Amino acid sequence: MSKRSIGLSDDLYAYLLENSLRETEVMRRLREETAKLPWGGMQISPEQGQFMALLAQLMGARHCLEIGTFTGYSALAVAQVLPAGGRLVACDIDEATAAVARRYWQEAGVAAKIDLKIAPALDSLDALMAGGAAGSFDFAFIDADKSNYDAYYESCLALLRPGGLVAVDNVLWDGAVINSSRTDSDTVAIRALNGKIASDQRVDCSMLPLGDGLMLAHKRSN
Ligand code: CA
Repeated sequence: MSKRSIGLSDDLYAYLLENSLRETEVMRRLREETAKLPWGGMQISPEQGQFMALLAQLMGARHCLEIGTFTGYSALAVAQVLPAGGRLVACDIDEATAAVARRYWQEAGVAAKIDLKIAPALDSLDALMAGGAAGSFDFAFIDADKSNYDAYYESCLALLRPGGLVAVDNVLWDGAVINSSRTDSDTVAIRALNGKIASDQRVDCSMLPLGDGLMLAHKRSN
């Protein structure tokens, strides 16, 4: 569903990758191993991983947050560009996919930069808030269960510093957002959050047709 950017022909997509992708060999192997898993289609596309790493670099990000880590590709992409002392807090509930993630983070030499919390993400986010982390993160990536998207967005916004950025994945949901017969809870939750962010005066935003749709929301200073 989000293994590649939507709306591009195979040839044009191949051109895009050939002329911009700088994926490391470890990342490529992680992507190939993940593609063989039952839910491998949930993995982000490599150009999206590279884009988010570029965003983190542009922002000079040091403290990052990720909701929904799966086998760790996006966390690896971002952790690789964090400076010494930088930290990525990754939230997921699946020990089996986390084991894959840890193996590749170790191999890539970024394991020490990633704090993986295996627990319901809202509990982990609440714990960060309770620990005084409000306003301390530079960048957050939301890519977990869609029915909690609004709650994740609100928590991430609270944890971001002014000028921080939240990126929300799957906002085009393989086109289901414009299919009126799709009334399942995931699709409804994605539509609702898209509409909310579009007019949310706490942020500036941009919805990109990257991967399965990526919404960027930049937290305003006041
Ligand atoms: Ca996703």
